[in-house]
Amino acid sequence: MRKIYVLRYGHRPERDKRVTTHVALVARAFGASGFILGDVVDESVYKSIVKVLELWGGDLHVEMGVNSEEYCVSWKRNNGVIVHLTMYGLHVDDIIEEIRSTSRDLLIVVGAKKVPGFFYEIADYNVAIGHQPHSEIAALAVFLDRLFMGRELYLKFPNAKLEITPSPRGKLIKRTREH
Ligand code: SAM
Repeated sequence: MRKIYVLRYGHRPERDKRVTTHVALVARAFGASGFILGDVVDESVYKSIVKVLELWGGDLHVEMGVNSEEYCVSWKRNNGVIVHLTMYGLHVDDIIEEIRSTSRDLLIVVGAKKVPGFFYEIADYNVAIGHQPHSEIAALAVFLDRLFMGRELYLKFPNAKLEITPSPRGKLIKRTREH
């Protein structure tokens, strides 16, 4: 099966913990198979992700501290495709079918601090989720939703200890035998 990984560039541990954790949780919940934190290791982000994986399942591949630029170069060398989410890119609606049609591995790059020109250059696709500034969490969610055409919202995760039983009111949580 092809890899769909998210690379978070520019994480600043002193201010981005929550947003970066949410980028990883969106990656998992919206169907990506890996989350890579570039250039820095953040134990508290790692623990938050692992806690969700233990309770809610899934086998998201998580790596931290890899050199972002080298990771992209090696991704391309292995015949992978890189999508960089940026408000300056091509409108998602104009390019998503072409991206969907490839069976090659996909690396989706999202930024935190200012993203260097390197990523705009190495990307096969610079993709805008609309041309207004907003958020890496929102951009990733919308991109994956368009990529999977909404099907990712029905994903079931292997090894889940908890599963939600949909309810019009209140909270119904089923504990599986794994718990
Ligand atoms: N100030 C940074 C810069 O100039 O590159 C960007 C900050 S922005 C809050 C963080 C990330 O959100 C961006 O790197 C991009 O990945 C994503 N993002 C924000 N708005 C976007 C949009 N309209 N389309 C695609 N991605 C977007």
